[in-house]
Amino acid sequence: MNHEHPTRYIRVIVDRAIHRELDYSVPETLADRVGVGSRVRVPFREKSALATVVAIPEQSEAKGIRPIEAIVGDAPVLTGQLLELARWIATYYCCPIEGVMRSVLPQVIRRAEVGWKKQLFVQPPHNLDQEEIEKLRRRAPRQAELLDAIAKLEKPIRATELLRQTSLDNQTLRALAKRGLVELREQAVVRDPHGDEQFIATSNLVLNEEQTHALKEVAQALDAPENARPILLHGVTGSGKTEIYLQAIRGSLDRGRTAIVLVPEISLTPQTVERFKGRFAEAQDDVAVLHSHLSEGERHDEWHKIHSGRARIVIGARSAVFAPLRNLGLIVVDEEHETTYKQEEAPRYHARDVAVVRAKMENCVVVLGSATPSLESYHNATIGKYRLVTLTQRVDQNQMPLIRVVDLRQERRKEKRASILSEKLSQAIAARLDKREQTILFLNRRGFSTSLLCSNCGEARNCPNCSVALTFHQHFFQGGSASPKTTSGRLSCHLCGHTAAVPKKCPACGQDALIYHGFGTEKVESTVAQIFPQAVVRRMDADSMTRKEAYRETLRNFRTGKIDILVGTQMIAKGLHFPNVTLVGIINADLALHLPDFRAGERTFQLLTQVAGRAGRGETPGEVFVQTYTPFSPSIQFARHHDFTGYFQQELEFRERCDFPPFNHAILITVRSAHEGRAKLSAETLKRRLSEVFPEEFILGDATPAPLEKLQGQFRFHILIRGEAIMRLSRLVRETLDKLPFPEDVTVTVDVDPYQLL
Ligand code: ADP
Ligand code: ZN
Repeated sequence: MNHEHPTRYIRVIVDRAIHRELDYSVPETLADRVGVGSRVRVPFREKSALATVVAIPEQSEAKGIRPIEAIVGDAPVLTGQLLELARWIATYYCCPIEGVMRSVLPQVIRRAEVGWKKQLFVQPPHNLDQEEIEKLRRRAPRQAELLDAIAKLEKPIRATELLRQTSLDNQTLRALAKRGLVELREQAVVRDPHGDEQFIATSNLVLNEEQTHALKEVAQALDAPENARPILLHGVTGSGKTEIYLQAIRGSLDRGRTAIVLVPEISLTPQTVERFKGRFAEAQDDVAVLHSHLSEGERHDEWHKIHSGRARIVIGARSAVFAPLRNLGLIVVDEEHETTYKQEEAPRYHARDVAVVRAKMENCVVVLGSATPSLESYHNATIGKYRLVTLTQRVDQNQMPLIRVVDLRQERRKEKRASILSEKLSQAIAARLDKREQTILFLNRRGFSTSLLCSNCGEARNCPNCSVALTFHQHFFQGGSASPKTTSGRLSCHLCGHTAAVPKKCPACGQDALIYHGFGTEKVESTVAQIFPQAVVRRMDADSMTRKEAYRETLRNFRTGKIDILVGTQMIAKGLHFPNVTLVGIINADLALHLPDFRAGERTFQLLTQVAGRAGRGETPGEVFVQTYTPFSPSIQFARHHDFTGYFQQELEFRERCDFPPFNHAILITVRSAHEGRAKLSAETLKRRLSEVFPEEFILGDATPAPLEKLQGQFRFHILIRGEAIMRLSRLVRETLDKLPFPEDVTVTVDVDPYQLL
């Protein structure tokens, strides 16, 4: 390893939450194999622990220094640049660096317990003695037969494959090996998650005018990345953003550099993978895929494929932003507004923002794409931090779908009760069925009924662990994959997973007066099936998609027209292309609007626009029905007119008036405990301490019960802090927390730039 002095000491971050870097000495025999980014095993307290080398100091002041025990894995796994990125994350997101390391390096790499999968390969022979073969033919005809097959080999073949082809057995092969007539060798085989798929090669499409302009912007940035600003690609659904990504990646490769594409996990469908693998099919190894459904072995192999430089393109979900590519030229963040880019456990980083920071550190271009950019990114574009590039036209020149708002208040007056399908939406569905066109119905709430109430005493069945009502599921899926079974009728908590049987009488007052209230996707499905008995109705949500294959299967059946109406949650709102869908119904647009969250309006606008983008991709223009009790809310009205700019402007004004992001940064501190009083007291003490050190310019909120007061048996209190100088704010919070001793049963979490305000 090259540094100026011999490696006698190393500074490491141990994989334990100790918030400190430690020094160890390196035995001479290991010295030339360790470098910054290496993984090592070190003595730690009374045991040993794994650690990452972060520096090679010349001297160490530490007392009682101990030698490391071993080096884990071969080469350093972490580049200096990724280490710097990890440090930035720890400071910005106010979290310990050990935790960040856990996100940067997948567990399978950190532990280095899983290796390459080795298999026995039969090597092609060099020179076979013909005489010997003839002798063998008399004595052991089967061995001779196998040897004949081996003689024809041009390259090594998997032993199992050879035996399968020749219908001979392992014993025969062993016998030949023993005679020294064949050579067997163990070789690594790659566990490629997409290895058994064929990708049809595609080539660049001829870009339209807007696309050409957009690609030119990216190309210019690729030519001079050091001066380039992040590019915000705002393009309506179907405007051909992906084609621009593909050609931009090609541009990066042509300049001898690599590329990362981030997509939300939910959009990382076989279809998406195929688009990328197909375009770069000339060398399939070029594209590595990282997502949460990989097996440990697959993850190991994909990661090493990237680390060794064999893969030059990485497509993946959130954590792929840490893909160990060298010479990074481009990071694409598709659907940059997606909140799933934010990790909801420590380290609570936002992959889009980390992408922007990594791009800056590594001098590479970053493209953020969306049909509905986040307010944060749009604001950055308005003030010139980002470069805004827009695509206003659909590639196929199709009209934007017609959005019709259905006022549920009027429906209720007519029907005297809340209906699931308004008359207008029902008629629209019927018309589609007649024309053999397809419909998507969207509702962001699972289950059958959202609560079970007693009409006598008014008690709702609440979760014992959380402050929410239990949802009634008519078909309830239980158990792991071993023996899954569906039981009928059960109450379930969507927050903690608690389930309960449905009581016959009200447990509070004993009366037989229980009524079901509210509805979820399960009820929509059954209602629709009742109204349209001739239609094939299927549901797609977390409950119905518990089987791994179910998702692909349902999508395939929908694509091939075997399903007329697809009911689902956000699972169906994202990035799916179905040309025959001409109607989208949004069953209740108000679900997000009434959450106590300053982003509620933004989420509703995005959702409506994204869902609407599913309609009318074919020849026929699409129609969208939005059912709502608040037809005049701005997010619904602007979405209806496809007026992005209008929406952004009014929403930005609102945020500025209230000092909310993007005009400020926010930090949300949550203090929780099973003991309500201790949680409250700790939160109030923390607030007091913060107020002592906080400068005027920061807005420090009171310690208040969280909107979701109780979650998984824990009482929760919030402190919301806002301010512009986020790094300073983070540091103050960290310092204050480090000085405060909290009772053992009190947990404090810090969320910088929070997305979950419940
Ligand atoms: P977006 O990502 O903006 O929603 P896509 O990139 O998925 O849009 O493009 C929508 C469809 O248009 C895709 O089927 C794509 O292959 C096609 N397409 C994109 N660009 C072109 C082009 N220049 N010429 C013809 N078809 C295109
Ligand atoms: Zn619960």
